[in-house]
Amino acid sequence: MHNCLLYFLFTNVNISATYLVYNRKHLFVYICNVKKINLQKIEEWYRLHKEEALAGRWIPLATIEPIINALDSSIFNVKELGFSSQNRPIYKVSLGHGKRHILIWSQMHGNESTGTKAVFDFFRFIKEPGEFSDLVQQLLEKCTITVIPMLNPDGAQVYTRVNADNIDLNRDVIDRKAPESDILHKVLNEVQPEYCFNLHDQRTIFTVGNTKQTATLSFLAPSIDVSREVTEGRKKTMRVIAAINETMQELIPGRVGRYTDEFYPTATGDNFEKAGHHTILIEAGHQIDDYEREHVRYYNFIALLQGITYLASDIEFSHESYFDIPNNTKFFVDVIYTNIFIESEQKTTSVATVFKEELKDGELHFIEEIQDIEDLDLYAANTIVDKKGIRTANLETLKKNINS
Ligand SMILES: [Zn+2]
Repeated sequence: MHNCLLYFLFTNVNISATYLVYNRKHLFVYICNVKKINLQKIEEWYRLHKEEALAGRWIPLATIEPIINALDSSIFNVKELGFSSQNRPIYKVSLGHGKRHILIWSQMHGNESTGTKAVFDFFRFIKEPGEFSDLVQQLLEKCTITVIPMLNPDGAQVYTRVNADNIDLNRDVIDRKAPESDILHKVLNEVQPEYCFNLHDQRTIFTVGNTKQTATLSFLAPSIDVSREVTEGRKKTMRVIAAINETMQELIPGRVGRYTDEFYPTATGDNFEKAGHHTILIEAGHQIDDYEREHVRYYNFIALLQGITYLASDIEFSHESYFDIPNNTKFFVDVIYTNIFIESEQKTTSVATVFKEELKDGELHFIEEIQDIEDLDLYAANTIVDKKGIRTANLETLKKNINS
C-alpha cells in the first residue's frame, strides 16, 4: 500500500474520480485518487528547493545557460534547436517518456521572464522531488514534456517584448519572418503536442472583473476563428485551466482572471489551437509589492505543475467551470497620489501613475508615468501616497515633478 498511501498525501479528501496505480514492486494494481497537489507540502518543498540561481525580472540567456548545462542528463535531454536573429542559441529540454506529449515555451516575449523562472523550478521538482517522488514518476511515465525555456534570447538580453528585428513572435506564427518562429514551428511539427503551455507575463494594470483585486494569474483557452465557437478542442484546453483554477482559488482566491477570447489571426496560441494542439495561455501578473515577481513565480510554478498533474491523471474536469473565472479588467495602477493642489486650476486633485520598466546598465528601473488624473474611484493601487496639499503650478509641472 506504500504507493497508494503516498498518493493520498497529495490529494484532497473530496475526491470525485479515481486513478489506477500500478505498483511494480508488489505487482498489484491499486485504485488511487490523484486530483490536486497538496499546497501546504509543496510550499515547504518550494522554500527549500526552488531554482535559486534565478531571481528578479531581467533573465537573459547567460543566467539560464549554466543551469541548462548542469541539468542531469539521465533525466533531461538537452538539445540546441538553432539560433536567434543575433545568433544566440535556443534550447530545448525534454523529459519523460509517456504517451501524452506536452510542449511548453517561455519568454517568447523577452521581457516576460516569470514563466522561465517557474519552468526551472519545475526542473528542480523533477530532479529533487523529495516526498513527491511518486508524483514525479507518474508525470514522467504518463507524459513526454518538451520545454523551450527561452524562445526570444535577443529580446531577453535587452529586456524587450520583441526580437532583435522588432518582430513580436506572438504575432508571427503565419509569416514566420523571425528565425525564432521557425524554430518553434519546427519543434511543434516534431513533437506534435497534444497540449501546449504558452507562458507570458502581463502588465500590472490588470484586475479581476469589478473586484479591484489584481489579476495575479490570467488564463486563456484561445479561439480558433472569429466565431469564438467552443469547439471540442477548446473544451479540452478549458478543462486544464479549470483544473488549475480550482487549485489557484485556494492559493490566491479571487485573483485569477480570464482573457476575452476574440480571435487573433496571427497569434501563436490561436493558430496552434486551430491546428489541434490544445494551447493553455498562462499570464503571470501582479500581487501587491511583488515587483520582482518572485511570489507570482511560485503561483506560476504551481499552475504549471497542477496543469501537468491533471494531464497525467485520468480525471476529467468540466470545461464549464472555465467560464466561472471572471474576465480581466484594467483598473490597477502602481501609485495614487492624493491631495495635490494645482494652482493654475485652483483645485485639489489626485494622480494615478504606472511604472514603465527600463533596462539601463544591467539594472531594471521602474519609471513612473501619469496614467490618469482626478476621478480615480475606479482604480486600485499598489501604493497610495497622501501629498498633504502640496502645491504645483500646473499640469505640466505636476507631470515633471511627480516623483518628488
Ligand atoms: Zn507576452
